[in-house]
Amino acid sequence: MEKQNTHTVYLGLGTNLGDKEACLKEAVEEIKKRVGEVTSLSAFYATEPWGFESEHSFLNAVCRVSTTFSPLEVLHITQEIELSLGRIKKSINRQYSDRPIDIDILLYDDLHMDSPELTIPHPLMWERDFVLVPLKEIAPEIAIPTNA
Ligand code: AMP
Repeated sequence: MEKQNTHTVYLGLGTNLGDKEACLKEAVEEIKKRVGEVTSLSAFYATEPWGFESEHSFLNAVCRVSTTFSPLEVLHITQEIELSLGRIKKSINRQYSDRPIDIDILLYDDLHMDSPELTIPHPLMWERDFVLVPLKEIAPEIAIPTNA
């Protein structure tokens, strides 16, 4: 059988409800099962809510995954994982709220894409320390674009 192309995707994970550490670990397990091999995982970082007020702080991490799925397939699988781990509400017009788990596609190879459903690189990643700090930990070679 022909070997399928593998792609390198960076996923940002965040949670601010319930047992956050258990939730991140469970999300990583689901990613391993359904998206592909997790080749690197950052430490878990406690951070303050970004873009909205909440008494619940976040726990964030970034992982690198080797996958044969397309960007849209990865989005749909990660959305299923979000739902299966208990996230009910999506953010609407960037109105953020507490969530058991949020998974963002940060980078997919060197791809740049902008569709109604999916923008890669993730449009806000370069201004979010809770993404940049764990990303730098596992991929120090990735440079922040000067026009970000
Ligand atoms: P969220 O902030 O996770 O609730 O995402 C809201 C919507 O952003 C999702 O329904 C996606 O269709 C869209 N989206 C656009 N770009 C991305 C990306 N790089 N990663 C994850 N979701 C994205």
